[in-house]
Amino acid sequence: MKKYLIFYILLILFLFYTNGFYTYFESVFYREEIIEDFGEFSVSQYPYNYDSVFLVTVDDISYYTDPYKLQSFLEYLKEKNVRPTLFVIPYHAGEKFTDNTHIVEILKEYDVEVAQHGYTHTEKEFKSRSYEEQIEMIKKGREILEKDFTIYGFRSPGFYHNFETSRALKDLGFSYESEMSIFDNFYVHYLPQIPHTRNRRVFMTHSLDPNIDVPKNAWSPQMKDFVDWWTFRKELIVNYKVEGNELYIFLSDYKEGLRITLKKDYRVHIIYEKELEYEREGNTIIL
Ligand SMILES: [Zn+2]
Repeated sequence: MKKYLIFYILLILFLFYTNGFYTYFESVFYREEIIEDFGEFSVSQYPYNYDSVFLVTVDDISYYTDPYKLQSFLEYLKEKNVRPTLFVIPYHAGEKFTDNTHIVEILKEYDVEVAQHGYTHTEKEFKSRSYEEQIEMIKKGREILEKDFTIYGFRSPGFYHNFETSRALKDLGFSYESEMSIFDNFYVHYLPQIPHTRNRRVFMTHSLDPNIDVPKNAWSPQMKDFVDWWTFRKELIVNYKVEGNELYIFLSDYKEGLRITLKKDYRVHIIYEKELEYEREGNTIIL
C-alpha cells in the first residue's frame, strides 16, 4: 500500500514539474474541441477544406545559423505549403540576431514568422527569475528582433519558465506562448498557449534537415495566424432559424474560410452584420 502511495506522490510531483498539471484542469473547462453540430448543419473547426492543423516550429535559430541550410529548408517547406515559425535567440554568444543581415534577408524573402526564443538561451534562463527580471530580459530580446520583424510569440529556452513568464508576456503585449505540455490541448492561461506535445500536431525541430512528414489535408499556417483563427473559432457563437426551405445562420464574428456543411439542401443566408456572400459546392459552403 505504502509503495503505491509513494508512486502517486511522485507522479503528481512530476506532473506539476512539467507544468502540465494545471493545464489539464484548464483544458477540462476550456476544451479546444468545438461543438460543431447544429443538427441542420455543422461548422468546421479549421478553415477551407482542412480537417486538422500541423504547425512547424524551429528552435534555436540565431546569428550563427547557416543561411544556406536555412534557405533550402524554407524552400522545401514552401513546396509543401507549410509556413513555419522560427523561434529565434535574440542575443546568442555575444551576437545580435539582426546583425546577420544575410539571414534577415532570407527570412523576409520567404515571409517567415519570427518568434522570440528567450534572450541569450542560457540554461534555465527564466525558470527562477522574478516577474520584473523577466520583463527586462524579454524586452531586451524583443527590441533586437523588432529591428526587422514584428514579434507575436514566445517560447522559453528548454521550456524552462514559471508562472511569471506568461504574465510578463501578456503584459508586454505578446499574442501567444508555445511551451511544452504532456497534454495536447490548446488553451488560454494568461495568453493563448499552443503547446508542443509528442504527437506532432505542433512539430518542433532544431535541425534544418528538410525531412518532415507533412500530414495530408492539414492546414499549416504560421503560429500567429493559427492563434488568430483558433481564438476566433473558440469564441464564435452561431445561431440559426429555419423557415420552410430557407436556413438563416447568424454569426457573432467573421473570418474568411469558415466552412459550413449542410445536412439538407436548404437555401442558406449567412448573416454577420449583413448578409454574406459565399462559395457553395453541393452541401459545402466556404465563406
Ligand atoms: Zn532552445
